[in-house]
Amino acid sequence: MATVLIIGAGGVGRVTTNKCVHNSHVFKKIILASRTIARCEEIQQDLPSGAIEIAQIDADDTVQTAELIKSTGADIVINVALPYQDLTIMDACLKTGAAYIDTANYEHPDTAHFEYKEQWQRHDAFQKAGVMGLLGCGFDPGVTNIFCAYAQKHYFDEIHTIDILDCNAGDHGYPFATNFNPEINLREVSANGRYWEEGEWIETQPMEIKMVWDYPEVGKKDSYLLYHEEMESLVKHINGLKRIRFFMTFGESYLTHMRCLENVGMLRIDEVDVDGQKIIPLKLLKALLPDPASLGPRTKGKTNIGIVAEGLKEGARKKIYIYQVSDHEACYQETKAQAVSYTAGVPPALGAKLIAEGKWQGQGVFNVEQFDPDPFMDELNQQGLPWKIIEID
Ligand code: NDP
Repeated sequence: MATVLIIGAGGVGRVTTNKCVHNSHVFKKIILASRTIARCEEIQQDLPSGAIEIAQIDADDTVQTAELIKSTGADIVINVALPYQDLTIMDACLKTGAAYIDTANYEHPDTAHFEYKEQWQRHDAFQKAGVMGLLGCGFDPGVTNIFCAYAQKHYFDEIHTIDILDCNAGDHGYPFATNFNPEINLREVSANGRYWEEGEWIETQPMEIKMVWDYPEVGKKDSYLLYHEEMESLVKHINGLKRIRFFMTFGESYLTHMRCLENVGMLRIDEVDVDGQKIIPLKLLKALLPDPASLGPRTKGKTNIGIVAEGLKEGARKKIYIYQVSDHEACYQETKAQAVSYTAGVPPALGAKLIAEGKWQGQGVFNVEQFDPDPFMDELNQQGLPWKIIEID
């Protein structure tokens, strides 16, 4: 039985904590730590008495984080704070020998740019210390990578193209709000698009490429090409890949608000002088927008996230669609969090379970598609994220 330390008590952290408690036959102790202890207390109050312990932590501080890992005896650390904390928490794991899991790749607060470089650079140190690091174990990245690994293992000799299709058809009733941390979300969707073809990254203007996709159980939705981090590792790990793209749905109201906010400078991440006070516009906007955790009770509708892969099996062309549909209200009923937090928060708990059970083991820093997808796919079916496969003619 393992001790798991979850860092970050937002919407995603709430779900991860719930799922670890649901799997308490694998975790002898569960600790939830975050910057604001009141957020941990709120989550603790909704769980059975004694199910978790809580702690205050500033995870920007490696020494403090390592001390908490040591004092709690954590074997596994799940980082569901912000991407800014990835490196400090990884370094704390390296110091203490605890396995590391996250759901989003490292990003520096001052530059809206994310990549695996600095996390992958820690591979040798993790390997030497005999420590396991599991990167990108949310839904996308995370489950989408595992869908690709599953397609590669069971359906193809070579996969030539992959489209990752992320649809949130939830309606929260606000004119504008983001479903996870607004700062991280808006940095991601306002950036240039990028996809990979024949060994090269091709850059597009934000929202330049649009297609309409018919999402099962949801319907037709405008889907826009974005850069998304799982493509960076999938181009390395999928055999024969010629092209990979990522599409996400956005409604007209969201896009109009976002363009307007961008045009007036509210998405800027540099400091602006306001009557002698230094203010970062995007941080001010985050403070004004609804807290994503508060969207749970208001959100109705479904998410559908999946991959379409096309390639060859025994010389014949083949195309499959693997997807997962979640219902916002059902997710809220189970965990008091909407489906975006739910779909992102369940997978890191499942990754921790597979590590604790010895089904996923390694020394070094890995992306999820480097492990056997089968036990993870089984867990998804049993733990609230059932998936489907369709063969497309
Ligand atoms: P929230 O902003 O709701 O929660 C983040 C939590 O982390 C907050 O409780 C915050 O504390 C805490 N935190 C921030 N900085 C620190 C710090 N220095 N030390 C300790 N705790 C800290 O975000 P979400 O729950 O929406 O998202 C969490 C993570 O999940 C993000 O990294 C996001 O990118 C990722 N994500 C991944 C997805 C995937 O599918 N792969 C999808 C959606 C999200 P405080 O309460 O004080 O602000």
